[in-house]
Amino acid sequence: MAESNTALRVLEGRHPDAPQQKDLDKCVHCGLCLNACPTYRELGIEMDSPRGRIYQMVQVASGAAPMDESYLEHMGLCLGCRACETACPSGVEYGKLIEAARTEIQSKVKKPFPWQQVEDFAYGTLVQTPWMLRLVALNMWLYQKSGLESLVRSTGILKLMGPFGKIEHLTPEAQLPTFFSQYGKVFFAEGERKHRVALLGGCIGNIFFARLHEATVRVLQKNGCEVVVPATQGCCGALHAHAGRREEARALARNNIDALLQTNYDAIISNIGGCGATLKEYHEILEHDHAYHDKAKRFVGKLKDVNEFLASIDLNMNMGKVDRRVTYQDSCHLCHGQKVKIGPRKLLKLIPGLEFVEMPASDVCCGSAGVYNIIENEMAEQILSSKMRNVNSVAPEQIASSNPGCMIQLAAGSRLHGQGKLKDNPQPVKHIVELLDEAYRNAR
Ligand code: SF4
Ligand code: SF4
Repeated sequence: MAESNTALRVLEGRHPDAPQQKDLDKCVHCGLCLNACPTYRELGIEMDSPRGRIYQMVQVASGAAPMDESYLEHMGLCLGCRACETACPSGVEYGKLIEAARTEIQSKVKKPFPWQQVEDFAYGTLVQTPWMLRLVALNMWLYQKSGLESLVRSTGILKLMGPFGKIEHLTPEAQLPTFFSQYGKVFFAEGERKHRVALLGGCIGNIFFARLHEATVRVLQKNGCEVVVPATQGCCGALHAHAGRREEARALARNNIDALLQTNYDAIISNIGGCGATLKEYHEILEHDHAYHDKAKRFVGKLKDVNEFLASIDLNMNMGKVDRRVTYQDSCHLCHGQKVKIGPRKLLKLIPGLEFVEMPASDVCCGSAGVYNIIENEMAEQILSSKMRNVNSVAPEQIASSNPGCMIQLAAGSRLHGQGKLKDNPQPVKHIVELLDEAYRNAR
């Protein structure tokens, strides 16, 4: 035990997955990434910039600085959005570095009771167990549909609940039946079958975005895809990788490779930008696993974000009009992680009647970042407020997105800060696939 206080217990020794010197050395401290960083833009503090965080990682790696509260705070405040990676001319793989730093933190720093136990249960059990997620969905659905949620909100009791009260408005609607009920099914192509694809449902996406997943199936069917929803797929491990729970991420990656690689699909489709970035990095997560590394590379070769896939095929243009002014918020892990920026815009511009309008700084994070808006709620709200100024500047009626986490955050932003028709829209945010689905349904 190297250090001890009331909040932290820090264990000695470097972790094998800790940031590697060769990766840290790529940073030449030029600072060209600073203005791309949402936390630096908000706070103007070097320690909360990519360059400052890399410097702190170097200090900890060399033993010149301890892994103390300050280090944890600055690493914790990073959104993991990887905008710095896009901005960096030296090829620094910041996403890899922050995940490595968090893996080391996770292995060495034990949180006080009961937070460690709650976190272990959420990551280690809940998101990996479909029946528990279904149970959560049922209870939340009853709470929301019985009127209890409205009652709680109207009483003002949330103001007495401290941090829990502040994040309550981010609770998404539980959707029954969940998408788990579609697992193991095959959905046939409309007309001639041109592609055979597998669809990934994720974990919590199945209970909060079941209707989005169904819309994704319909849009793929309209485009000549036979869609298989493999029964033994599971959580992709993105939340685990971002939180530094590397071994759990590896186990989940192996499970999905076993579940999906046994059939020769033309593509494996994800409609969640955040999951897709991790799914495309399975070969890196399993780099030292001799039994799985080659399989992981084949898996990654088939993985496609749904926007990327649809933009690459001859899209079915038998659509009706969607008369609406729409802007697009890039999903960080789709644009900075997967480098997919053109496909989503191409699809939006193909929808008849839809007026696409680009907002300023669309590729700056909205503050969602997985569970960041829950854990770092204050900073997330500040970033969201800046985001909504950019949204409002182009006066959209709806925001298009490619990631459910962003959809929750932007819907909250629209309720809190939205202006004009956006504020009045009962569904201010839609996934691009949902807009395509609407267009196909509007076809005569
Ligand atoms: S990942 Fe995002 S928040 Fe973190 S340092 Fe890079 S730009 Fe800043
Ligand atoms: S991460 Fe890249 S852009 Fe940022 S300071 Fe280092 S070398 Fe420069």
